[in-house]
Amino acid sequence: MANFKTHITVAAFGSIAATAVCIQKIGISDEHAVILFLLGCIAGMLPDIDSNHSIPAKWFFRSLTATSMVAMAFYSIPKFSTLVVLGCLLSTFIFVHYIFSYTMKSITSHRGLFHSVPAAGLFGMAMYFTGYHGFTWSAHFSWLAASFISGGYVLHLILDECYSVDLMGGRLKKSFGSALTIFNKRQWRGYIMLYLIFACASLYAYDPNIILLSHTS
Ligand SMILES: [Zn+2]
Repeated sequence: MANFKTHITVAAFGSIAATAVCIQKIGISDEHAVILFLLGCIAGMLPDIDSNHSIPAKWFFRSLTATSMVAMAFYSIPKFSTLVVLGCLLSTFIFVHYIFSYTMKSITSHRGLFHSVPAAGLFGMAMYFTGYHGFTWSAHFSWLAASFISGGYVLHLILDECYSVDLMGGRLKKSFGSALTIFNKRQWRGYIMLYLIFACASLYAYDPNIILLSHTS
């Protein structure tokens, strides 16, 4: 499998190329270009959050804790007293930083469900909903952001598979086929669940009036 440095380098190159295409073909703003570039870079790291001690996993759970606490602060400050707000923030910290991250680490295995094509689609959908409903981006730009997340994610999986081929020895390593997976019989329940959630999320988000290659502002 490729290491962290290789992943971030390839993700940055892939993301800058895709962003350049968007600037040329769609005419996105500078601000949107920076957002898309960063999303592509982050997506190139995402699949390795299933590796408990990896740098992406540490970053992911720390930023998730910080984001959740900020969201809780925005929600609770106008409604509750200072003491209750502090209680809400502390509970959020304990839940996300300890309980949620511990549960995720114990139920995921490296190169398990997270290293799969449906997971790439699901993270893209999560980006769409976060962009559209959370950041109130336009539907067009939210789909574009989702494409960068899924695209960067798949790029990571392809890179992992490339590193599973021993070119010098002309053979395939044991890890070959464990990154860019579409379905795995041994984890069939997990895969069916991923495809079901993806299908429901896509149907919910689908809007026939959206044409991605226009009006991205
Ligand atoms: Zn990986």
